[in-house]
Amino acid sequence: MGGTIIVMITRTIRILSVGALAALTLASCSLPLVSEREIAIQADEQFEQMRAQTPISTDPDVRNYVDCVAHAIIATLEPPYSELDWDIEVFDDDTVNAFAMPGGKIGVYTGILSVAKNQDQLGAVLGHEIAHVTQHHSVERANRTLTTQGVAAVAGAALGGGATGDLVQQGAQLGLLLPYGRSQESEADRIGLDYMADAGFDPRQSVKLWKNMAENDKGAPPEFLSTHPSSDTRIQDLIRELPESLVRYNAAKEAGKNPHCGP
Ligand SMILES: [Zn+2]
Repeated sequence: MGGTIIVMITRTIRILSVGALAALTLASCSLPLVSEREIAIQADEQFEQMRAQTPISTDPDVRNYVDCVAHAIIATLEPPYSELDWDIEVFDDDTVNAFAMPGGKIGVYTGILSVAKNQDQLGAVLGHEIAHVTQHHSVERANRTLTTQGVAAVAGAALGGGATGDLVQQGAQLGLLLPYGRSQESEADRIGLDYMADAGFDPRQSVKLWKNMAENDKGAPPEFLSTHPSSDTRIQDLIRELPESLVRYNAAKEAGKNPHCGP
């Protein structure tokens, strides 16, 4: 899967570079932007590609466990996210990774279960990933890429509707593939903490999770690289948020949110 992504990024960056050159000769024009709907369509395609290329876990215990944690988090969301038909897949792969994509796709690699060691830590991972979706981070990335590269301007002014559609599609693909920015990661940490606490997962375990992540030497993919933000900063930020999230956690407990997903 890594190879495919690199090829896609290389191809897309080449197209974007050509566009950036052309953009220098064009002043202002209206920018075709990647919509939430377009990015959900691309996410759906990428998700099905992953399903076709990566082995799927057939272990019912693992699948039920991941499903249980994911649905506990989803139950805390507001519309439209609470009403999405979330599609959850468990990939039988040692990579330490998990993701959520616009349109309601969640992928968990079994490798992350060696780092997220209990239901609360997995709740921290999925809360964080789902927050990237509810805060529109992929759409932001896609549109920032298109705008800074000037490709959208070129497409709008010079190439006409069909090509514009292609570039928007390329932008959407890139928006899903590029790593999130530092401020997006911090936002996903903060909001993910609320989600896990509201679901009845102990928010203190998020600190343990990121410590485990920092100690993991398997070479985590970009989403979980400790440099982004640095694990020390991330952990300090989480600790600062803990008093407030513990209030939410206790309220969730009192309201009967007491997930028993395992392991
Ligand atoms: Zn993230």
